[in-house]
Amino acid sequence: SLSDRLGDVFKRFRGQGRLDESNIQEGLREVRLALLEADVNFKVVKEFIDRIRERCLGVEVMKSLTPGQQVVKIVHDEMVELLGGQSTDLVFAKGAPTVFMMVGLQGSGKTTTTGKLANLLRKQGKKPFMVPADVYRPAAIEQLHTLARQLNVPSFNSSADQNPVDIARAALAQAVEQGFDVVLLDTAGRLHIDEPLMQELANIKAAVSPQEILFVADAMTGQEAVNISQSFNERLDISGVVLTKMDGDARGGAALSIKRVLGKPVKLVGMGEKLSDLEVFHPDRAAGRILGMGDVLSLIEKAQEAMDEQDAMAMGEKMMRAEFDFEDFRKQMRQLKKIGSLDGLMKLIPGMGDLRKKLGEMAPPDKELVKVEAMINSMTVQERRQPKLLQDPSRQRRVARGSGRTEQEVAALLTNFFGMQQMMQQMMGGGKKGKKGGMPQ
Ligand code: GDP
Ligand code: MG
Repeated sequence: SLSDRLGDVFKRFRGQGRLDESNIQEGLREVRLALLEADVNFKVVKEFIDRIRERCLGVEVMKSLTPGQQVVKIVHDEMVELLGGQSTDLVFAKGAPTVFMMVGLQGSGKTTTTGKLANLLRKQGKKPFMVPADVYRPAAIEQLHTLARQLNVPSFNSSADQNPVDIARAALAQAVEQGFDVVLLDTAGRLHIDEPLMQELANIKAAVSPQEILFVADAMTGQEAVNISQSFNERLDISGVVLTKMDGDARGGAALSIKRVLGKPVKLVGMGEKLSDLEVFHPDRAAGRILGMGDVLSLIEKAQEAMDEQDAMAMGEKMMRAEFDFEDFRKQMRQLKKIGSLDGLMKLIPGMGDLRKKLGEMAPPDKELVKVEAMINSMTVQERRQPKLLQDPSRQRRVARGSGRTEQEVAALLTNFFGMQQMMQQMMGGGKKGKKGGMPQ
């Protein structure tokens, strides 16, 4: 994958004490090949490499970094820029209901994304209204209603013999009447771009003036997705892109090309088939993952605010080697109060994407951390260093008494801790790291 290849290049860079024109040249050639192989747009690759070369040659070595690290940092920074710099917020109307319109080819994930967005918006306290405007496939209307029922979100009762433009207008009127905030229009797609469809979408746009026209693209289709997005953009002046199926083996080309080619940002990414699998796109995190560093860079940045860099690196490494014990666990929890949430921290560790999903129920929610810390405080130093000692029930009883928690709570903490340790060992030890795809896990 792209991460694997870039990881190899960087490993070599890191090993070099000094950088000169020839080893920069050679390294960048490899970066270039890796990007092309990942199906990144040819012109984008050229610009990208040229900019990096320029910056590498003019580099003023920071005393805290080796030249190799410096190159990695430059590539990372440029990649963040390429991906759009900052994450881009969705635009909402003031006063009147907001309209988001999903467009894209058939099978790209429009209907699923409509459901995911409804779910996301509702979590933000908004009142979404789901509107099926794909009248060509009767199953498509039913598919959206089913998602709406699952989410318990209201949906517009479109009928297949209605014109999509009329549906959009009527749905917007109903939203105004019933006080819904965001109208989510799920439009029809075709297998290929065709003029009647484009005209229809342009008519819908003219009728309801959406705040967002989101081009939904299957990330697995790489450069093809970029080309198609260009056609949609020329006709509809889209506001942003949703890249779906980023959980799959996408090679990364689409994500890396779209912003530069279209001048439009990737706003959201679909990470699975479930309705909760939609995330705001963060260029810096995505770049870190593409570079095969998980989000180690942002871990370091964030952690720096709370502790010194060496501590942060050591902690990250320990977590990666799955060697951490209750001492580390407690130290982390104290840092967490400064860094953010446990979930936030987990996101930053390479290879944690999969693990984090499994950990969903296991990892204590932040408000539980206080209780957890109390239990850890009641352990002896020896127990913290060798958590296995705590398998002894009499020790568990003592910890429970000492912390004012129940024995069940102590037992649950241990189960979670050992489970987590075991999974980390499997993840990190099983040689699975970085095998799957190059993009955000
Ligand atoms: P539409 O024709 O554009 O409306 O596409 P659908 O929403 O019906 O999605 C087509 C297929 O892609 C369905 O099987 C979805 O479950 C699947 N799909 C959509 N988004 C994602 C995603 O982010 N990850 C994965 N793995 N599958 C997705
Ligand atoms: Mg659909």
